[in-house]
Amino acid sequence: MEPKNINGSSRIYEHDIIGWFEDISEKAGQVQTETLRRILELNWGVEYLNKWFGNINIQDMDATALESLYTSLVPLSSHADLEPYISRIADGDTAPLLTRQPIKLLSLSSGTTEGRQKLVPFTDHSARTTLQIFSLAAAYRSRVYPTREGGRILEFIYSSKQFKTKGGVTAGTATTHYYESEEFKIKQEKTKCFTCSPQEVISGGDYRQSTYCHLLLGLFFCDQVEFITSTFAFSIVQAFREFEVVWREICDDIKKGTLSERISLPKMRKAVLSIISPNPSLASKIEESCEELENQNWVGLITKFWPNSKYVYSIMTGSMQPYLQKLRHYAGGLPLVSADYGSTESWIGANVDPYLPPEDATFAVIPTFSYYEFMPLYRQNQDCGSAIDDFIEDEPVPLSKVKEGQEYDIVLTTFTGLYRCKLGDVVEVTGFHNGTPKLNFICRRKLILTINIDKNTEKDLQMVVEKGSQLLVSKARAELVDFTSHAESETQPGHYIIYWEIKGDVGEDVLGECCRKMDASFVDHGYVVSRSTNSIGPLELCIVKIGTFKKILEYFIGNGAALSQFKTPRCTSNHGLLKILSGSTIKRIYSTAYS
Ligand code: AMP
Repeated sequence: MEPKNINGSSRIYEHDIIGWFEDISEKAGQVQTETLRRILELNWGVEYLNKWFGNINIQDMDATALESLYTSLVPLSSHADLEPYISRIADGDTAPLLTRQPIKLLSLSSGTTEGRQKLVPFTDHSARTTLQIFSLAAAYRSRVYPTREGGRILEFIYSSKQFKTKGGVTAGTATTHYYESEEFKIKQEKTKCFTCSPQEVISGGDYRQSTYCHLLLGLFFCDQVEFITSTFAFSIVQAFREFEVVWREICDDIKKGTLSERISLPKMRKAVLSIISPNPSLASKIEESCEELENQNWVGLITKFWPNSKYVYSIMTGSMQPYLQKLRHYAGGLPLVSADYGSTESWIGANVDPYLPPEDATFAVIPTFSYYEFMPLYRQNQDCGSAIDDFIEDEPVPLSKVKEGQEYDIVLTTFTGLYRCKLGDVVEVTGFHNGTPKLNFICRRKLILTINIDKNTEKDLQMVVEKGSQLLVSKARAELVDFTSHAESETQPGHYIIYWEIKGDVGEDVLGECCRKMDASFVDHGYVVSRSTNSIGPLELCIVKIGTFKKILEYFIGNGAALSQFKTPRCTSNHGLLKILSGSTIKRIYSTAYS
């Protein structure tokens, strides 16, 4: 059930891969049952499965009976349940523990969503599905926004360092494994669109030097660029913020065919210098545009410099939504297309409606990638239940039984050896593409702001911050650069702190209004009751110095995170981070709501 592998025109390939997906999505339920069978057959006899299946023989069992047997014998799990096995693999145990496929690599999840990095097996299947989903999404995009064969992509992508575990297994982020793989090259060949930057820039290991070179080469090839992309939208915004600072140096390099001293990595220097050559007329054109754009706060920067680009493509949903406004500002009317949904554990769904704005993006589940179950989630009655999570779970259902309008967590059984593992995301089924569900990403399940009976998810905080920051724009024409928060419970009563980095001058009165507005905008009943009775104190808004969130990014990168997978933590109790935040706070404002 693999898409046909055709050499030749990208149009034929697109036609084939869409045909393949239309076919498997039509009979998605049946394909899922078969996918589970394949996973179990391939991994039959591994220690984890033996524990639950014992001596049962599945050889002659029909796929539907096997599906029922599997879900009745194998319990739901979390990453913590599988961690002892993964640790043994990392320590060099080569016995078939989770999968019989060779585990050549281990992937690190970003760790900024869960607070801590997790290791997940990465096999040939992982790289293959990455290529498939990228090619599939590219084919759907190309129907709406056709690109020119042989064109270029300005990709803000970054490999992080790979390292060896105690047992000698190579570990790194999943995106790093992909950029280093053959599949990354194959994707360019198949889609006939080539990245502007050479491998030495992508895998340089210093994100600031890589960003500079991505920008320089993107401008050098500006007329050929068909679209602009990154894994998460944050990286594009971060790159253009950097451009606002370094554009003069970039113009100078284009003019003379040189490379700024800030690029100190010899391999990166050599690779970039072998591509560029002096181009004074292009440099002066860019310089002129920059002077003009600088006076207009860089609005429409993308369309100005890349006149042939058709769209901007990146993950713009979930925790990336706060960057949409800035991205639109830079994009100047160019369509923004939200990229696919997946995790280090498995890819899940592709955006097959690229014409929709990111706010409406959904992801059609690809039923051959993994076996997906959907665990219905119901919002809890206001004050009861644990403070870890705001949801009541119901029995997981197979893909064929999901209902439109229902919220679910996703339970993954993967070719890489995860069995009924809860992902910890909240998604809503918004409809179907043929027979496969389309998912809207709501948020991570984990609560981020909670002190006692109050419960707020990342999405709740995002909405509150959006309301507060609207005042920034309307009353002070200032801009929110980034934000995070902390639930302070060491002092009594505990209270929430929201940290804002702002670009522009804003008076105390406006900040006071923003703070009050945010405090009053938390709609969670537990918070409203606690604030009214003062068992939670007034919301504190801390304004941090310009550049603080860059420091935070560097702090994470210094601790092994990769820029390609970086998501600013929207709430933190990490000491290092809190130290940076409190050391950078220049103003504190307390809410007068509820007083
Ligand atoms: P990681 O832990 O680095 O593997 O990141 C995976 C997580 O990123 C997922 O579980 C989601 O919470 C989030 N994520 C991935 N793709 C998307 C997307 N398209 N929209 C929103 N969130 C996403």
